[in-house]
Amino acid sequence: MLSAERIMQRCDALARHSELPGGLTRVFLSPQNRAANELVLGWMREAGMQARVDAIGNVVGRYEGEKQPCLMLGSHLDTVRDAGRYDGMLGVITAIECVAALAEQSKRLPFAIEVLGFGDEEGVRFGTSMLGSRGVSGTLDPAVLNTRDAHGVSIAEALRQFGLDGSRLAQVARKKGEVLAYAELHIEQGPVLEAEGLSVGVVSAINGFSRPRATLHGEAGHAGTVPMHQRRDALAAAAECVLAVERIAQSDAALVGTVGRLEVKPGAINVIPGEVQFTIDFRAPRDTLRQEAVRSAVDAVQEIASKRRLTAAIEKIQELGVTACAPRLIEQLERAVAAQGLHVRRLPSGAGHDGQAIQAIADVAMLFVRCKGGVSHSPAESITEADAGVGARTLLSFIERFEPRS
Ligand SMILES: [Zn+2]
Repeated sequence: MLSAERIMQRCDALARHSELPGGLTRVFLSPQNRAANELVLGWMREAGMQARVDAIGNVVGRYEGEKQPCLMLGSHLDTVRDAGRYDGMLGVITAIECVAALAEQSKRLPFAIEVLGFGDEEGVRFGTSMLGSRGVSGTLDPAVLNTRDAHGVSIAEALRQFGLDGSRLAQVARKKGEVLAYAELHIEQGPVLEAEGLSVGVVSAINGFSRPRATLHGEAGHAGTVPMHQRRDALAAAAECVLAVERIAQSDAALVGTVGRLEVKPGAINVIPGEVQFTIDFRAPRDTLRQEAVRSAVDAVQEIASKRRLTAAIEKIQELGVTACAPRLIEQLERAVAAQGLHVRRLPSGAGHDGQAIQAIADVAMLFVRCKGGVSHSPAESITEADAGVGARTLLSFIERFEPRS
């Protein structure tokens, strides 16, 4: 029997493993990560799974089926700083709960089930995200293991201190065909389901993102002596650019755009800013829409710069295309939602998820669970026990009726 109460209790139990007293911060390969892994390994074994930690620090539980290939379920076990207790963990715990329900009835399916608790999705410690799922999908460049944290410890060293061997990274990677599909349950992190009074929603696609970085070069000068008409103020220009990005993002309801970081040089109260560097983050459910926004932003920045006699340089720092959820899996998840007597709602994911990495080896699907106020990545993150139950029943229904090929 699925127990929503147990799911909630386990989210609470994991939240106690935090480096932040009275809050939740649990980063990759930390002592708190180890303690959380121990709990999850125990729950997996209790649910009838073989469980272990792989070479990149993912917790892997396997419930055998009639045939070898698996349906992969899961989410991540790391958190941002001062996090909530459901983002990531809910997906791992709910998947274990579903396997426990099958094991209780000694029910085996035509395929195996694997539950993954990815060690790193948020990228807090090393500044590079989805290390766990990229390892599993074979898309993690081993050179990334040389990346260092704020204390100068590399991922390879941190793995060794954790008792793992990063040189065995290749063994973590799964081949196409070994994984029939990947399905992740996750809190929505947005307000759509709550606004429409729905417990769960089926994800259509994970939005892609583009992150250009712009540098404006003007001229520094004394704030008291340079007349206004002779200035080439890089920050005043950047302010116009920020507003241009906002205007571009407002041009389509499916598009969002943010300038989240601004570095001003020299950065003194009495000096005209000579150089400003800022980041742009555009996300959209369609690649063309996002790429068009980037082009418009580049044009706007160049135009603003030249109007103000500045020079602008724009570089691409990160880009990831839209991850479309597989139509056959969307349909199967929607049938599972309908089987609960619930209204079926399809929605895109504005935030990034492990499925973006796993897509390299398998089709992906996601089920969103309503969260209070659409709030995530915050201690205020909250879901109801009733919704946790709906999520678990929907996921179990999906698993039991899962058709590897349609
Ligand atoms: Zn998450």
